Amino acid sequence: MTKNTPAYGARAAKAPLAPMTIERRDPGSHDVEIEILYCGICHSDVHKVTDEWGNTHFPVVPGHEIVGRVASRGASASRFREDDLVGVGCIVDSCRACPECRAGHEMFCEKGVRFSFDSLEQDGKTWTYGGYSTDMVVDERYVLRVPKGLDPAHAAPLMCAGITTYSPLRQFGCKPGDKVGVVGLGGLGHMVVKFAATMGAEVTVLSTSRGKEEDAARLGAKRFVATREPGALEALAKTFDLILDTVSAPHDLNQELALLRNFGALVLVGLPPGSTPLDPGMLLFGNRRLAGSNIGGIPETQEMLDYCGEHGIVADVEVIPIQKVNDAYASIQRGDVRYRFVIDCASLGP
Ligand code: NAP
Ligand code: ZN
Ligand code: ZN
Repeated sequence: MTKNTPAYGARAAKAPLAPMTIERRDPGSHDVEIEILYCGICHSDVHKVTDEWGNTHFPVVPGHEIVGRVASRGASASRFREDDLVGVGCIVDSCRACPECRAGHEMFCEKGVRFSFDSLEQDGKTWTYGGYSTDMVVDERYVLRVPKGLDPAHAAPLMCAGITTYSPLRQFGCKPGDKVGVVGLGGLGHMVVKFAATMGAEVTVLSTSRGKEEDAARLGAKRFVATREPGALEALAKTFDLILDTVSAPHDLNQELALLRNFGALVLVGLPPGSTPLDPGMLLFGNRRLAGSNIGGIPETQEMLDYCGEHGIVADVEVIPIQKVNDAYASIQRGDVRYRFVIDCASLGP
């Protein structure tokens, strides 16, 4: 049995997002049915809908920064109660038995992770549809608890932008006094500033938009650098312990590597389409490290949410009705978002 559910999605790469009806499965014994309240718009949704990564299956219903309330649950689902405030991020299923799943790195499941949208379910036939929708059904193993005190609309972006930035800061041991650079002040970038500042780091924002300078300070950054102004980068050579690159468009990594002190690390979380030239000398002369980081697993996502609950950390959001989603995409493509659009999913309802 399935349930017809209102959603917004794209029917082809050049098509705007438009209303459509999707089918959700009836909750199985370990499932929870979630009434979706809010869904953030990540730049990955934009890459997918425009097929910039060249791997989108259409029609696609994006959305993987989901917060909602438990509407019902299967007979064996015991982790949540009706009306609990819960979150769903990128991951909705995996094999649960391989070493990566057992280590809580479900995004690297050896049998193939299932993402909340544009992924084939284990049956090999059904495509997953994301959170630009009124409700969804998810196995409770992949459902996150939203700590009390966090506003649901502001908490939604934590499910992707939050974990994607918290995880590398933890992996690279961000600590008080570290000099941390953030390249790109968008949805991910503004979360790096908040997390790194709370962890005691001295944060510098490297941005193409001089207009974001005041926001950077308000978010917790000590310094702001307008990267396109002459001489701006040269003045920062060899200064950072850690740089997180959140940029969504192709750009020069060698320039960023030059800003690391010896043994410093540049971690890529932005995923622009295409490849980029790398000068090996930038790594060798200074023992610099270049790394990437892909979202984070379910246990670490819950850890991040609990950390946000303790420290009162949420995203800065602009809540929009679904009818404005195409305008929001255009703003995101211009780099003009402060700092996350979040869809009020009640606007999808009857
Ligand atoms: P976003 O809100 O659009 O922010 C991206 C920022 O990049 C912009 O605000 C802008 O910041 C900067 N930028 C844009 N074009 C640029 C250019 N040509 N040169 C230099 N800087 C530029 O996007 P987001 O949602 O934070 O996502 C960022 C990237 O991370 C996307 O590629 C997304 O797919 C990827 N992502 C990866 C993961 C993962 O698991 N690793 C998870 C989520 C998202 P300024 O105005 O400050 O320059
Ligand atoms: Zn995302
Ligand atoms: Zn697995």
